[in-house]
Amino acid sequence: MATMITSECINCGACEPECPNNAISQGDPIYVIDPLLCTECVGFHDYEACAAVCPVDCCVTDPNNIEPEAVLIARARSLHQDVDFGEHFQSRFRTVKMEPVAAGVAPVKPVAKESRDGAAIVERKAAPPAEPPTAPPAGERGVPPPNSKPPARAEQKQVKPKKSFSNELPEAFEDIANRYKGSGSFQRGARKIAVLVSQPLLGALPDETKRKLEIAVGSPFFTAAGSTALNILFNGILYPLVCMAVAVMSQGPAVLFSQEINIYILIGVIVATAEGVYRLKEGIFRVRPAEEMSFPAALYGIPLNMVLRPLLAKGAGVIRALPIPVDGFYSKGFVEKLERERRYGNVYTIEDRGGALLLRLEFPRWIPDIGLSNRKELPDEMPDYDYELALKDGQFIVKGKCTDERVRKISSSIGAFPPEFTTIVPLKNKVLGFAHHFEDKVLQVFLLKNGVHWEQSYR
Ligand code: SF4
Ligand code: SF4
Repeated sequence: MATMITSECINCGACEPECPNNAISQGDPIYVIDPLLCTECVGFHDYEACAAVCPVDCCVTDPNNIEPEAVLIARARSLHQDVDFGEHFQSRFRTVKMEPVAAGVAPVKPVAKESRDGAAIVERKAAPPAEPPTAPPAGERGVPPPNSKPPARAEQKQVKPKKSFSNELPEAFEDIANRYKGSGSFQRGARKIAVLVSQPLLGALPDETKRKLEIAVGSPFFTAAGSTALNILFNGILYPLVCMAVAVMSQGPAVLFSQEINIYILIGVIVATAEGVYRLKEGIFRVRPAEEMSFPAALYGIPLNMVLRPLLAKGAGVIRALPIPVDGFYSKGFVEKLERERRYGNVYTIEDRGGALLLRLEFPRWIPDIGLSNRKELPDEMPDYDYELALKDGQFIVKGKCTDERVRKISSSIGAFPPEFTTIVPLKNKVLGFAHHFEDKVLQVFLLKNGVHWEQSYR
């Protein structure tokens, strides 16, 4: 089956540079894939690169153009005659992982590699799809409310024995968690209150910082939209005051008691109003809903960001920017996109807690509603994945694997639904060992930094 692009394409262009065969081009009205060039990435990846990056999951396999692996690798060989693919080439049809890339071929870059401040970088491997998906409309079965936890299962959960891995420390996860409490977290205590109270000022920051703060704070009372609105009102007072200060500095205090001061106040109000209109232009002129708007910085937002960002980074840990740099990501489709990224092992944060790093990685929570006839036989909640953890060469590696055969079967029938993922987190500190805890689809791992105390304790 060659891959095709459905009419849901939003022309973001993210897929085009990912294709190793240059099979994707801008068509009219949407991007198109040339089936004579598409190899479903056989030879290059064990997943379809375009499907992996598409923010709306509209790169799907064409059920009317079924081609076996032999045809696809033959096409790859014919298109890249200078490349020796060998027999152990990458292919989504194979369950065994092969060598990363065919010899002589430059690796195609993965979707999103860098986190905020560059401290953590994700690479991923996934083994995806096959037939056209039906995107689940928000609010229907299988589409949970934002950030909701999976419901308790009707049947009793099997208590699984705790897994243990090489380099896992003898101390219990809970004990380490107590020792390294989240002093820096924005999700509780005085820091959270400070952030909420400072909204009129923090709303001046650039959109990206506000989005990350929103995630870090985790409160409905702090949003990028709300803080920006408060900042616009705040600037309506601040800018006239600044103009009055300028007047005093240039003309002396007497200007405060003259008619002339009104001109300065007016200038401040005009600047604040013009800036406010500019910052809300997507909503005012393009009638975009707030969830889809971006909220640029105020005049002083960039320098303020330079000052505050290190403090915010310390408090929030490393909040990864999710790798879908397109308009609409923060729309009502956000939850589905977030869930999609969970399926690739991309939703994680890593927080520096002094002597330890805390990695939190979210596993998939829901089985997508893909409109298959047997969908009703499947649960809404994703069965727990099996996982493997390893510390190797300064990296922490998480491998997640769906072991439920029913789900594995449908994973090959929907775009962007790999049945397993590998997430590699490079560590900026030397780490002695780790302790992990898995509950409610969230894996938490404390990675203890290599220090004198820990060396004495565990060696
Ligand atoms: Fe290109 Fe791979 Fe997508 Fe085919 S499946 S269009 S080869 S990126
Ligand atoms: Fe269209 Fe998806 Fe490609 Fe974006 S990534 S251009 S939405 S097919």
